[in-house]
Amino acid sequence: MTELEQKQQLVELAKSFYQRGYSVGGAGNLSVRLDDNRILVTPTGSSLGRLDADRLSVLDMQGNVLSGDKPSKEYVFHLALYQQNPKCNAIVHLHSTYLTALSCLDDLDQDNAIKAFTPYYVMRVGKLQVIPYYRPGSPEIARELSERALTGKAFLLANHGIVVTGSDLLDAADNADELEETAKLQFILQGQKIRYLTDDEVKDLENRGK
Ligand SMILES: [Zn+2]
Repeated sequence: MTELEQKQQLVELAKSFYQRGYSVGGAGNLSVRLDDNRILVTPTGSSLGRLDADRLSVLDMQGNVLSGDKPSKEYVFHLALYQQNPKCNAIVHLHSTYLTALSCLDDLDQDNAIKAFTPYYVMRVGKLQVIPYYRPGSPEIARELSERALTGKAFLLANHGIVVTGSDLLDAADNADELEETAKLQFILQGQKIRYLTDDEVKDLENRGK
């Protein structure tokens, strides 16, 4: 894929998130690793529904802007994940309704906020670790994520939203979709007796994915 195609794909996927109500106003940001030393990030204050491929921010791994507009202030944690995990090539950060609602609940299991009840969640994401609350854009979020960068694909930022990684942008976007749907199902099922997948059933899915 050429750099222009990567920019166009980011604009298209961001618009899809916006149109489906996964992002409102200027919330949320997406990024892609372009090569060993550059990433593409959505600009600060931009709406995911109205991005311009020519104005997307291109940064080096030190956070210097090489071209485009000023990046989202949350670019710091995107960089931290790319620096720590060479297999992470794209990141989707959303304040989507059901995942954000989940992030506001007290007493979440910090190691896995959604216990598996569908195979699709296990195959795409596996588990959802919780990052404690910090002010949006603060360096602590980047530090917490870089410490966990190699331990999972998705992270729930307490009282904030979701950070989902992928092998490419399409993979990260599909992971985010699956996760939002799983959170929605969990709320629909609230108060009912869920048949969770057993440990053996989860292991069987994990082994097939390898
Ligand atoms: Zn955010």
